[in-house]
Amino acid sequence: MLLSCSGWACSRLISVSKVPGGNPVARQDPDGFAAEFMICDFCGSNFCDRCHASGSRLRAPRCASCGGKLVPGARLEQMSGRPRPAAAGHHDRGVRDIESGRLGDAVRELDEAVRLRPEYTAAHRAHGIALSGTGRHAEALAAFERALQLDPSDVVSHFERARTLLATERAADAVAAYDRAIGLRPDYPAPQINRAIILMDAGRDAEALAAVDRAIALLASGGAVGAGRYDLASAHSVKGAALVKLGRYEEALPAIDYAIDNGPDSWNDHSNKSYALERLGRIAESETARGIADSLRRT
Ligand SMILES: [Zn+2]
Ligand SMILES: [Zn+2]
Repeated sequence: MLLSCSGWACSRLISVSKVPGGNPVARQDPDGFAAEFMICDFCGSNFCDRCHASGSRLRAPRCASCGGKLVPGARLEQMSGRPRPAAAGHHDRGVRDIESGRLGDAVRELDEAVRLRPEYTAAHRAHGIALSGTGRHAEALAAFERALQLDPSDVVSHFERARTLLATERAADAVAAYDRAIGLRPDYPAPQINRAIILMDAGRDAEALAAVDRAIALLASGGAVGAGRYDLASAHSVKGAALVKLGRYEEALPAIDYAIDNGPDSWNDHSNKSYALERLGRIAESETARGIADSLRRT
């Protein structure tokens, strides 16, 4: 049997095997598979041996998601028949509601999850995401702060808090929050890309370019964690925009074209492309790009 690890951005599978010493395929690939793991006795999350806190002689390690006690994986069978606690059920439904865009329902489910279990980090974080999405920014910030009190290394709460700060026009605070996320997980590209956008909007184009070049190098290295499908395209979009602002039109074009070819449609990319082409004297191509930008802007 294979379980997945609930550790953030961990792609290891947990191999549960009756074979003495563990499943031989899993044993040969320790980066892909874990044999040692722990289970949360509250929310039932499984954590591979690289993803759970070590605990101490006096205190069992705690689940990063809900604060529950972690017990050895050997107790899997005993744990599996137990009913799921109500707070975990509200959390799960809230997360599913967020994923399907039902933010009002998500807020209600997650209100209930944190009421029943105030130490539930993941529920506070999801609550913050749902509140922020419905425009309740002050309450969202309080939810992220609660999650971070419980787990100061919760990189996603730092990231989401930064996004909410930016939504309330607190750009400097947002940069500081992204810096915290980057300090914790230098291999997580999303905060680097978003931070570069803020720098560029503040006219700090050369810094933005350097920051986004680092994100692109990280994504190209294959060592990035928590990367989204469009991160590389977004990074190229920011790079192209920064180069246009710096007057480096010739270099901007391949970056913008990469973003256009690999990302979602964005009038901004076509508009930057049109401007760069115009400045390079390529007027017919510039007009074509302008036409695409205008049609995207209308939709
Ligand atoms: Zn848990
Ligand atoms: Zn793991």
